[in-house]
Amino acid sequence: MSHNKHTILIVEDEPSLIFTLRDTLENEGYQTLVAENGKDALNIVEENRPDLMILDVMLPGMSGFDVCRKIREKQLLFPIIILTARDQEIDKVTGLNIGADDYITKPFGVKELLARIQARLRRSDDYNGRKSDQITLGDVKLDLKEGMVRRPDGDQELTTREVEVLRFLAGYPNEPVTRKALLENVWRYEYSSNTSTRTVDVHISKLRTKIELRPDDPRYLVTMHGVGYMLKMT
Ligand code: CA
Repeated sequence: MSHNKHTILIVEDEPSLIFTLRDTLENEGYQTLVAENGKDALNIVEENRPDLMILDVMLPGMSGFDVCRKIREKQLLFPIIILTARDQEIDKVTGLNIGADDYITKPFGVKELLARIQARLRRSDDYNGRKSDQITLGDVKLDLKEGMVRRPDGDQELTTREVEVLRFLAGYPNEPVTRKALLENVWRYEYSSNTSTRTVDVHISKLRTKIELRPDDPRYLVTMHGVGYMLKMT
């Protein structure tokens, strides 16, 4: 398989369509999760962090649009493909406005759906930096795959968390990233109970000792006052 075990969450209440989607996706080598309503979908997102979500609009209780909106409100950026009924033009517009990445009209062909999924996953993999494991910051080279910092005065080992912080920041090169976004995407759902934005600051300080030649005067992992942090990349 070309994709390495991405997990796709299917949010759909129609049993025959759940069956078809699940069967199709698993045959392609994806892992699948199923939620039959919005509430379950949100719980699964929190617990399992799927790589992509296929989301029906017409669900019992909370609508697919509400599910999508709630996920984006949490700054979770994984791709969401909305399933909409034929001729619901308004749904497309609404779907894209509330943060869905794509929509597909029922009934749809399996090949079309798979193509859309692959395109979205490829894009988000690039975005998440899975393909850019090597980052050069002046004389310092980061090897995120190996979790190593290669610097003129010797190598430094990165913790898994530090690698995740760097990956996330590298997904937004030269753009400010808030502490909250880091907490929600790197610390994910652990953050509500025992972490705070202070946790982020502590990790950033430690990271600077590893990747900056002068940690007290950082050139690459810079503070954006009142906002958060930015990874300066050329
Ligand atoms: Ca439905």
